[in-house]
Order: sequence, then C-alpha cells, then structure tokens
Amino acid sequence: MVQVPDTPENEGQCICSGCPTYNECMRERTQVLFCARDKSECEIEKNGCMCGACPLASEFRLDKMYYCTTGSEL
Ligand code: SF4
Ligand code: SF4
Repeated sequence: MVQVPDTPENEGQCICSGCPTYNECMRERTQVLFCARDKSECEIEKNGCMCGACPLASEFRLDKMYYCTTGSEL
C-alpha cells in the first residue's frame, strides 16, 4: 500500500463517520482518516469496518481494515 496523504480532500472522502464501529468518543474528537493518521485512543468495539467501500481504499490500494485501531501502520 501507499501512504495516504493527510489532506482536507482525503478527509472529506473518508466514510468512517458512517461506520457501525464509529462511536461517540471518536465523534466527539472528530477523528477520521485513520489510514493516514494515528489510531484512535478511544475504546473501540469492532462492529464492522467500511474501509473496503471507501474511495481512498481503491485509490491507495489499502488492503487492511479497522485503521481506527491500528493507524496507518507503515
Ligand atoms: S477504520 Fe474502519 S472500522 Fe474504523 S471507523 Fe473507519 S470504517 Fe469504521
Ligand atoms: S480507508 Fe477507512 S480510515 Fe481510510 S479514509 Fe477510508 S474509511 Fe477512513
């Protein structure tokens, strides 16, 4: 995979906030774009990940999920 640039454009494409795993803690901190940033420090219960359906996943050939729990992992 390629490092996803941390840009406002990419932030706008991230679909994390519509994901079943996305929780109140992440929402309060307005955390998104985990594949380009660090993981969330929030406690996360995995309820499914939508990264596979994200436009950035195909653009940058991301092959993992749950970036909110791992961060960019490079
Ligand atoms: S990284 Fe995946 S599981 Fe985490 S909030 Fe984003 S879409 Fe949901
Ligand atoms: S791949 Fe996942 S973490 Fe990265 S921008 Fe898309 S939805 Fe957000």
